[in-house]
Amino acid sequence: MSQSANAPQSVSQELAPPPLNSPRTLKGVLISEESLRDRITQLAQMLNQDYGDKPVVIVGILNGTILFFADLIRQLTGPIEIDFMGVTSYRNGTSPGNAAITRSLKTDLKDRHVLLVDDILDVGQTLTTIVEEILLQEPKDLRTCVLLEKTARRRYPIAADYIGFSIPDYFVVGYGLDYAERYRNLPYVAVLDDSHLG
Ligand code: 5GP
Ligand code: MG
Repeated sequence: MSQSANAPQSVSQELAPPPLNSPRTLKGVLISEESLRDRITQLAQMLNQDYGDKPVVIVGILNGTILFFADLIRQLTGPIEIDFMGVTSYRNGTSPGNAAITRSLKTDLKDRHVLLVDDILDVGQTLTTIVEEILLQEPKDLRTCVLLEKTARRRYPIAADYIGFSIPDYFVVGYGLDYAERYRNLPYVAVLDDSHLG
């Protein structure tokens, strides 16, 4: 049940407020704070409608989902529980690598409704690895929610059930997403200017 996603295509030249991180390494803002807020409210409304008062375990993937997860769950109205999984994608700079689980769940997911929340679906390897791991626990059902998706480089046959924004094939940072562990604190999603990287 895929929901239609917003699709920002242009990168604004403005970076306001100026980040403490070096703004010269960012090309510009792709998704503003306001757009993030509006879309996350819409996602929460869809989830509230679809789950009703069913108890759901919301599983966040660390570290990239920290801001999205916090903003999403505070708008959920049902009886939810939360848990986190750690996954490292072993990326070489901005290129995909292998996914490995670095922190396991504490919650038993057998016969539970589970909603998996990740930052971005790109090639699809990370989400596929996590979904396979969770299905081993035999949840009652499993749905996936991603803030961002890039379809250009998809190699695995996986689609998310709830998608915040479909974006072009830029390497993005901010609002939880990093480049070499930096930029996670930016309140917006920005495009990295890789021409500055050695
Ligand atoms: P996939 O296996 O789908 O290629 O990888 C998804 C993971 O790769 C995400 O959870 C994220 O950690 C990382 N990733 C993919 N695209 C981007 C991007 O544009 N920016 C950042 N910061 N991470 C990305
Ligand atoms: Mg990630």
